Amino acid sequence: MNGKRIVVIGGVAGGAACASRCRRLDENASIVIIDRGPYVSFANCGLPYYVGDVIKDESKLLVANAALFQDRFNIEVRTQHEAVAIDRAAREIEVKELSTGRIYRESYDALVLSPGAAAVRPPLPGVDLPGIFVLRSIPDSRRIRAWISEENAKSAVIVGAGFIGLEMAENLVNRGLSVTVVEMLDQVMPPFDPEMARPVQEHLEKHGVKMALGDGVAGFESDAGHIVVDTKSGARHVGDLVILSIGVRPETGLAKSAGLELGERGGIHVDDQMRTSDPHIWAAGDAVEVKDVVTDRWTMIPLAGPANRQGRVAADVICGRDTKFRGVQATAICGLFGLEVASTGASEKGLRRAGMTGYEKIYLHPGNHVSYFPGAKPINIKLIFRKSDGRILGAQAVGEADVDKRIDVIATAIQFGGTVFDLEELELCYAPQFGGAKDPANYAGMIAGNHLRGDLPLADWQQLAADPALLVDVRDADEFETGHVPGAINLPLNQIRHRLGELPRDREVWLYCGVGQRAYYATRVLMQNGFRVKNLSGGFRTYTLITSSSDGH
Ligand code: FAD
Repeated sequence: MNGKRIVVIGGVAGGAACASRCRRLDENASIVIIDRGPYVSFANCGLPYYVGDVIKDESKLLVANAALFQDRFNIEVRTQHEAVAIDRAAREIEVKELSTGRIYRESYDALVLSPGAAAVRPPLPGVDLPGIFVLRSIPDSRRIRAWISEENAKSAVIVGAGFIGLEMAENLVNRGLSVTVVEMLDQVMPPFDPEMARPVQEHLEKHGVKMALGDGVAGFESDAGHIVVDTKSGARHVGDLVILSIGVRPETGLAKSAGLELGERGGIHVDDQMRTSDPHIWAAGDAVEVKDVVTDRWTMIPLAGPANRQGRVAADVICGRDTKFRGVQATAICGLFGLEVASTGASEKGLRRAGMTGYEKIYLHPGNHVSYFPGAKPINIKLIFRKSDGRILGAQAVGEADVDKRIDVIATAIQFGGTVFDLEELELCYAPQFGGAKDPANYAGMIAGNHLRGDLPLADWQQLAADPALLVDVRDADEFETGHVPGAINLPLNQIRHRLGELPRDREVWLYCGVGQRAYYATRVLMQNGFRVKNLSGGFRTYTLITSSSDGH
């Protein structure tokens, strides 16, 4: 064979996708995958469920193995071989065979780096005590499983309330452990806005997970066979094991020592064809920095979908195609005790951090399907969009069913540069058990579109205390009695046309109801009668989310 020599470092999401696509495009290439771990193409995303015994058979985590790569794709896989240096001038890498210590050189025409990221182990006192784990690989999960059974573990402390930490919380609770989550921020799910993370926290607490939020870890001690997690506030959380899930750091050591350019966030810098600063070296996955499609900033998004797509783009380019990577939008989902938590695009705090203004947001709380069909579950949705033209910037959703479907629809719209007006027009599946003739994605577009057209002026819940507007609750009197926003008067929607005289014309009137629909009808009545009116998006449900979260006032 005298084709191109393609060497791929790292044989999981980005690397395996790249190598196998290279073979599909170039039957003559000679392709080798080098991985320092014992496996290639394994399902990292399944690891929490293997620890939790949902996936019982470890071999199910192996999506492919060396023999399959060889037989099906004619790709040579060398596991337990670590790439230790890149000689760019000679176009060779130095590889260490871990079982023998032998070092050898391997030449390439195209080199692909997909070394992933390492779980962060903070340099805190006691961090290396036995019983403190990270979760990144099959051997990691095997060690955690063994510790739970050998030590007969009854309790665990999880440090970090991101996706992996919370998935681990669910899985350990399901294995009968008592779980405490310690998180430095005062919310769970750091990528979410606080008011959207709040129902997630409540749901976890309902399922017995103890939360220690707003408190950083100071160190670890061992005490009478247990591990104590000491926090900065002076609290002590005791567990039989500790899982550190405080984020990942891109594996850039090889790239850095080879003099490849790193980006402003510390990941490997690549262009939109996944090419590094060396024209013969590509990179993909958790180790690279890419453009965020919404903010146009460089970012690092450690997710399997982008890693796979980046590997594929690199393969295309290596094999002579002009494919480009469009960027990332951080579409992600997590399931926690039956609650689905998903987001795509920018959060409000992400936009603020990026210094972006000129956005608007709406909240809605529709059912996953029509309410008359048994079993409808509400979904809390937040949609963020650009004020000037309605372009969708991001969405977050939390609910017990079909959350993924709504976020996926909105993610698709974002990918195509869609606006809230596009969401209004989407034609989506409908039969009673699946949705509504107006799907939640349509509703989100309609509410936002109505606002931008001036038919439904919105007020911001966060401004409530500061604004002199008259606050009117348009729900029925019995609903008002069971709880309302302090300072609000009650004027039920069905009576509003006959009681217009009770409302001021020299002052703004801000309306709310349960979730926003009745207040919208009332807004239209009042606007057409000459009142200055605004609507508090998402109604009393949104108010309770905001006031119970750290974003409250
Ligand atoms: P990896 O998949 O990490 O692979 C890197 C490989 O490179 C490793 O096998 C490593 O051994 C090897 N390597 C590194 N350096 C060298 C070297 N010098 N020489 C040889 N080999 C080397 N993403 C989602 O989208 N959804 C999820 O639900 C999800 N759940 C997750 C759950 C867990 C517990 C974890 C750990 C991750 C999860 N992810 C999830 C993230 C996702 O798995 C990663 O984004 C993805 O695997 C990144 O792919 P990658 O190719 O960049 O790196």
